[in-house]
Amino acid sequence: MSTEFSNMNTDFSNMNTDFSNMNTDFSNMNTEELLKIRIKINDNIVSLKDKLKNINKLIKKTCKHQWVEYSTSGPYSERYYYCTICNCIN
Ligand SMILES: [Zn+2]
Repeated sequence: MSTEFSNMNTDFSNMNTDFSNMNTDFSNMNTEELLKIRIKINDNIVSLKDKLKNINKLIKKTCKHQWVEYSTSGPYSERYYYCTICNCIN
């Protein structure tokens, strides 16, 4: 697992570089450049969503959940339990 995390850190540092490069002024760019950046951003989003999925799985597994009852209001009120630490819903 520690190997996974060290790989992840490398990914994040690469990602930060990408984003800081992206902080340039888009208004002076031509369509071709903008299309390239759009692909880059979309790739980042896909990769981030994957990471988020993995992280949420790990959090759900490792969190010492503290469940609190929550019910929606109205005639068809439903009861949920959510964790005050990680906000996951049960
Ligand atoms: Zn939790």
